[in-house]
Order: sequence, then C-alpha cells, then structure tokens
Amino acid sequence: MLAPASPPDNAIEARGLDKTYRGQGKGKPVHALKSIDLVIPRGSFFGLLGPNGAGKSTFINILGGLVVKSGGTAKIWGHDIDTDTMNARGSIGIVPQEINIDPFFNPQEALEIQAGYYGVPKSERQTEKILRAVGLWEKRDAYARTLSGGMKRRLLVAKAMVHSPPILVLDEPTAGVDVDLRRQLWDHVRELHAQGVTIVLTTHYLEEAQELCDTIAIINHGSVIACEPTSKLISRLDQKTLVVTPQAPLTPPLAGFEDITFAMRPTGAFALTYKTSQHSVEELLDRIRRAGIAIKDLSIEEPDLEDVFVELTA
Ligand code: ADP
Ligand code: MG
Repeated sequence: MLAPASPPDNAIEARGLDKTYRGQGKGKPVHALKSIDLVIPRGSFFGLLGPNGAGKSTFINILGGLVVKSGGTAKIWGHDIDTDTMNARGSIGIVPQEINIDPFFNPQEALEIQAGYYGVPKSERQTEKILRAVGLWEKRDAYARTLSGGMKRRLLVAKAMVHSPPILVLDEPTAGVDVDLRRQLWDHVRELHAQGVTIVLTTHYLEEAQELCDTIAIINHGSVIACEPTSKLISRLDQKTLVVTPQAPLTPPLAGFEDITFAMRPTGAFALTYKTSQHSVEELLDRIRRAGIAIKDLSIEEPDLEDVFVELTA
C-alpha cells in the first residue's frame, strides 16, 4: 500500500531532528534530541540502543506523530512527516513502549478497529492471519484486560501490522516478556523481515540486538554517537582478553605486564586484556613463559556489544 512506484533507498531519514520538552510546573526544559541525523536503510534490521532517557522513544514517537518535534525534518518511506503526513503514517507501524490497549475490546475487535482507523477495506483485512502469527487466535474473544502482559505486548505488535506497513518499529517490545514469548515474538519479526519489512528495534537487551540487528545506532543524551554495521561496531573495540590458568597458584602483581590490563579471576586464572593492534597472542605467551609461569589452560575472550556500549556511553 502507499508505496511509491520504486521504493526509496531509505526507510527513514531524519535530518537535524530536535526536541525540547517544556518543563512541567517548575521543571526545567529537557533537550531530549539534539539535532540528530539518522538514516535507516530500506530492508535493514536496525537497532537503536541507548541508556534510559537517551531519547529513543522521543525519536520514535516523533515518527509516529505522538510527540511534536522542535526542529529538523523526518521522512518515512520517502514521505515527509510534515507535508505528507498521511502517507508517512501509512508507511509505518509502531509498537509503543507503553501498553495502551483498550480493556473493553477483545483482540479481534481491537484489530478490526485499528484496520478501520487506517482505512483498510474489509476485504483486505488479515485479522485471522495476524492474530495467528502472534499466537493470539485462541484468545480472539477474550477481553483485553484478561490478557497477560506478554499477550498484550503481542496484541500491540498485531495492531501495528494491520495496514501492512513496509516499516515496523518496536520500542522495547520484550521488556517484561518471558523468554519463550520473546523467542516467539522474534521468530515472527524475523519472518516479517525476511518478507522485506524494514525493522527498527529499541532494546536494552544488548545480546538481543547483537543477535538480531544488522545495523546499530547508539544514542546517548540525545545525540547519535555511533551508527554502523553491527560487526563493524564490535570490531571497533580493538581488544581481546587472554585468560590463562597457571599450573601453580600465582600471587600478583606480576612483573612484565605493566603495560597490559591485568586481572585475577576468582578461579585462580589471570586475564590479560590487550589491544590487538598493539600486542599479539604470540608476544603475550612469550612474556608469560619469561615470567616463569607454566600454563595449564588458556582461552581468548572476544569483546561483545556490551563492551562497546559501555565504552561509548561511559
Ligand atoms: P528513552 O526512550 O531513550 O529512555 P525518552 O525519549 O523516553 O528516552 O526520554 C528522553 C528524555 O526526555 C528523558 O530525559 C525524559 O525524562 C524526557 N522526557 C520524555 N518524555 C517527556 C515528556 N513528555 N515531558 C518531559 N520530558 C520528557
Ligand atoms: Mg523509551
């Protein structure tokens, strides 16, 4: 629906997007988004990461028309949110962070109402298919207020999909959702992605982002501080940790490792964290032998997204 003849290269394009919330009462204004530029390519599985209060929901809610921006421009599927609002809205489905479901409707009614809101003709509605996909078909007649937290979240995902938008945005969709349901939700989202839907996800489960997202932007205090392919982001942190279990117990400090981060592990192993651009494993092993340490076992730990995140947002 609504897609231009040839789809745009970018699903979302924000330029100089800015938001200051006026302070409530005596509260000071909050500069929640500081003129950010963010481009989300069509077809990507994009992660938007940042600590609490970084501005993630503000960004998403501007796209969805729930928050009025203070400056800048944003295009959704090539449609400017100010001058082409209807098409912009029709191109995106947003699963909000807050659960906002009318308690008096059952899932089937909730989807029908949402479809009506988006002007989806009755003949084109896919209520059953969508409810089955999110595992709520059996609950189609249950009042929303009787649904569990996880079910409500899945109903929100279903609602976001009624108009078959080419972009699906999920704002912390798995907060408070148990592991099984999370798997199920991700299976569904992965399938949508495989069908060509651009996925934008905010989460504070970094492992989840690392596993799912091909591109990641990190936002902190209202600014984008990194935006690149996930693998590149992780390789940015040019460090590894060599963990060595010695034959005999050691008493630190150890001479000869002053230029490397040295830590004892509770197991009696010691860990050498080094920059791969400055040291090689070969060199470190030489130094360990020269220090007269016999090696019982060793392993190498790679950095993960968590390490990068901590380093960048510190
Ligand atoms: P995130 O989703 O990354 O946790 P938010 O976008 O929710 O961050 O919030 C960004 C900043 O804006 C925070 O400092 C938050 O307190 C503030 N903020 C969010 N919504 C409002 C609001 N409606 N009024 C005033 N301040 C707000
Ligand atoms: Mg948020």
